[in-house]
Amino acid sequence: AVQRPEEIQDARLKLPVVAEEQKIMEAVHNNNLVVVYGATGSGKTTQVPQFLYEAGYGSPDSPTPGMIGVTQPRRVAAVSMAKRVGDELGDHGKRVAYQIRFEGTVGDQTAIKFMTDGVLLREVAQDIALRKYSAIIIDEAHERSVNTDILVGMLSRVVKLREEMATENSAVKPLKLIIMSATLRITDFTENKTLFSNPPPVLQAEGRQFPVTIHFARKTHHDYVEEAFRKISKGHRKLPPGGILVFLTGQNEITQLSKKLKEAFRIGQSATGPQVRISGKDAPMETEDIDFGDAGDSNDHDDFVDEDEVEIDLDDDEFDVGEEAETGPSKMHILPLYSLLPTREQLKVFEPPPDGSRLIILATNVAETSLTIPGIRYVFDCGRSKERKYDRVTGVQSFEVGWISKASASQRAGRAGRTGPGHCYRFYSSAVYERDFEEFAEPELLRMPIEGVVLQLKAMNLQHVINFPFPTPPDRQSLASSEKLLTYLSAISASGQITQTGVTMSIFPLSPRFARILLVGHLHDCLPYTIALVAGLSAADVFIAENQAIPAQAPRDEDAIFSQADRIEEDARAKIRRQFNKVQKDFCFLDDKSDAIKLLQVVGEYAHEPTETWCQSHYVRFKVLKEISQLRKQITELLRTNITAFAGLKYQEKLPPPTAKQVKALKQMVAAGFIDHVAIRADMSPNPPEVRRKPTRAIDVPYLTLFPSHVKRDNEEKAVYIHPSSPLAHISPQECPEYIIYSYLQRAAPSAATPEKIPKARMHALTDIT
Ligand code: ADP
Ligand code: MG
Repeated sequence: AVQRPEEIQDARLKLPVVAEEQKIMEAVHNNNLVVVYGATGSGKTTQVPQFLYEAGYGSPDSPTPGMIGVTQPRRVAAVSMAKRVGDELGDHGKRVAYQIRFEGTVGDQTAIKFMTDGVLLREVAQDIALRKYSAIIIDEAHERSVNTDILVGMLSRVVKLREEMATENSAVKPLKLIIMSATLRITDFTENKTLFSNPPPVLQAEGRQFPVTIHFARKTHHDYVEEAFRKISKGHRKLPPGGILVFLTGQNEITQLSKKLKEAFRIGQSATGPQVRISGKDAPMETEDIDFGDAGDSNDHDDFVDEDEVEIDLDDDEFDVGEEAETGPSKMHILPLYSLLPTREQLKVFEPPPDGSRLIILATNVAETSLTIPGIRYVFDCGRSKERKYDRVTGVQSFEVGWISKASASQRAGRAGRTGPGHCYRFYSSAVYERDFEEFAEPELLRMPIEGVVLQLKAMNLQHVINFPFPTPPDRQSLASSEKLLTYLSAISASGQITQTGVTMSIFPLSPRFARILLVGHLHDCLPYTIALVAGLSAADVFIAENQAIPAQAPRDEDAIFSQADRIEEDARAKIRRQFNKVQKDFCFLDDKSDAIKLLQVVGEYAHEPTETWCQSHYVRFKVLKEISQLRKQITELLRTNITAFAGLKYQEKLPPPTAKQVKALKQMVAAGFIDHVAIRADMSPNPPEVRRKPTRAIDVPYLTLFPSHVKRDNEEKAVYIHPSSPLAHISPQECPEYIIYSYLQRAAPSAATPEKIPKARMHALTDIT
């Protein structure tokens, strides 16, 4: 039996899910498929795997041998939940492990395996019966990530298969599937007859975590980063001790705000500040109705807090939390949390802050579900997130900041009530929330290209993908365009049957386009370069963008004297800019017109000096490059073991620079994966459009895509342009190549200042072709 530490035992007994243990386990014994619903904090993630474990699942010699697999949509959740469950299991803690893409702790003893849903998807592709497992828990199913949806669909079939196998062979046991959700949006699963012919039982854990009081803003501010700054500054001064978790939309905002806070509070700390006591008794009854900051302290005054202002501040009780409050701690301990941050850095948020300081975490959506960050009592929610949008008609992608769903807002608020009662301050009014927030977010599968999904399904012998039991099926048009692309890539035949090439492509953890490039990549002894290139191409964000690398100019009064300090700052910035430009240029020494070759150069140089210092001085991301080199190794291994012709292939970490002939060949190979993404310089096209003015910069040179379906909608402009981040942006307009291969088209969101002006569609160029 499991001996748990005493304080853990006590805490467990208070969780709603634990009260339902018997019912849940009975349902699991009697059904191979069960849905568990419980509000965030009810104990699903930490407790349900332990119920199974204590019932004998996961032990090799029990009647239900095989591991208990638990999936999470995010890596940091998989790692941190494995740690927590390990701690809770006391002397059995060693039997809990995790596996994320390139890293894991799984061993012979592992009984409970936490993993990202992508990891399990790969395993299903290798063994459709999932024989290693006795039970699978799909957690956070309400998030509706593509991987989760596909897993639910696949596993519905795996469960059936295992049932059949078990009736034929008593040595095989049925697989238990438990789908867990924090919202009641589970009818897509439970009432979907193609998915589950008999609706599965839904077990509900009544009650929730600790109470979280929600405070809406009276006004909704548009500059939510500025608003966050104001509210954090004020909240830090006025709120009783407790960590603050702030939700923003992206890394840029986080870096910017963190810098601003650090600057402001270094100054703020030299004086001890007024020692004030706020008491709930002085506050009006309904703190929710009081606006956060507009009563008596307009923005203009914030910077000049004198005695009087402080008085006004105190009367304004936006932060009154309705209890006898002491002043908060005086120092801020600021930590970022976003997905591109190395896992090790991400895990820092779980450590207690230094004595006497307040933990302030600036996070993206990564922190929205699953996580329990000890000590977080306050959540500040900007109400927005950045989402990839994909226009199925035009093929244009964009990243847009938009309102989150009500379900997400409630998940975010839930982070404040994990280890005690908390408060959530929303930077938007209840009217905006009611009017503009959708109930639930749209499933991710409906928002992105799905050729990868289609290929994986076909590789599993599902010729008519339309018949796959999707929880929410994609529309026919996006299935059709995926099939069309797969035909171009020779992955499927005209009749939709997977080809031998397609089967081989599906073995690699790459999107079909990159897999295709890989398979044509062995000419001219290019293979090691092709591997490095596709590994690089499939990672996002290798380069740190110019606006992030170079610090922004501090705001300064127009007529203030340009001081010595300003001049030094100006010089420092100019120096960084020179360095930045030099680094970019050096990366292009093999070829000054190709993003792909530039990327290959980065991957190659990194292999010779795989350090954080090198990455920092070259404005590239260490975490991403490290993963690229792991992926290179993995691809090499897959080629070696799956394709007889490459049985002798060896992994070469360090490569000599490719020859001119190889560079040329590599560019052509890139084209093989993107034959539908070719653009021709408009003035060289068969029907050149009229031009009024000759462009003076490369980024103003119009191109036309060869595949007509793209871009043009209604009366928008037909031409597409080079993205400023490409090396092509730096050549003269006359030198602009006739043909460009691009990876995708992107359009920025219209600016707030000129909402009627539609920004240009820009090509994320891959390479010129000659
Ligand atoms: P759910 O999955 O239903 O949202 P969890 O099982 O993740 O809930 O967590 C339930 C509760 O267990 C949390 O609200 C918290 O009180 C406690 N808990 C979980 N992880 C930790 C942790 N790392 N440290 C302290 N308490 C934790
Ligand atoms: Mg959970």
